[in-house]
Amino acid sequence: MAEFRIEAALEAAIAEAARLLTQARSAVALTGAGVSVESGIPPFRGPGGLWTKFGEPPLDGYQRFLRDPAKAWRERLNPAEEWARGLHETLTGAKPNAGHQALAELESLGCLKALITQNVDDLHRQAGQQALLEIHGNHYKLRCLDCHTRFDPKHFPIDEENLPPHCPGCGGIVKGDTVSFGEPIPPQVLRGCYDAVLRCDCMLVVGTSATVFPAADFPREVRSNGGQVIEVNPHQSELRGVATLALCGPAGAVLQRLLEHARTLQAAA
Ligand SMILES: [Zn+2]
Repeated sequence: MAEFRIEAALEAAIAEAARLLTQARSAVALTGAGVSVESGIPPFRGPGGLWTKFGEPPLDGYQRFLRDPAKAWRERLNPAEEWARGLHETLTGAKPNAGHQALAELESLGCLKALITQNVDDLHRQAGQQALLEIHGNHYKLRCLDCHTRFDPKHFPIDEENLPPHCPGCGGIVKGDTVSFGEPIPPQVLRGCYDAVLRCDCMLVVGTSATVFPAADFPREVRSNGGQVIEVNPHQSELRGVATLALCGPAGAVLQRLLEHARTLQAAA
């Protein structure tokens, strides 16, 4: 990616954003596909998008899983459909970028209390983010559909002769953690999001126009509670009417600069 030059107006806006973040009591980040573009993961839709290239997963994916979980598991273990193979190959090998790293650093400075992401790519966790709420699940994890416990497949042996796998805790059917089309957001994740949003007095929205439920509610909720909403996107999005401050630029460069400002402010305090 070409070096991004931060012009004076953007620099001033970033400094203001750092001031808002370091003064907030309970800042929360909300991220989407845009934060992972610099890791080589294109968004799902639009030109060059994953679904544009590989075709879209079935819109009734969750119903299909429930109708025949064993068949869905066989397809998961040996993906034949192009969208599933394409997604897996794109995610595997992707590494956190400067944007993910800056967000994890902002958390360790105490400037972020939680991070809500729409991404399933695991890159925030790999960057070291601790208080992480994955609305759409995690491509690499498994989840019990009854008690919602999540499992790391490394410690969850799959018996291919005995599908679907069952939860050792409650006996429920275990599914991939990624939320399929038609599947409800896991309730404890949604509750965690609303708890974080309720307390949030400054939301940093990165790489998403937050138009899809439930993410669409979050910045609006923060604004109506009197909080600040800072948007980081290459171009201002549908959030225009909601954001109190827009930082137009690629996530990696903008967030690294934001982190530097936050460090300086904290050192001076
Ligand atoms: Zn269970």
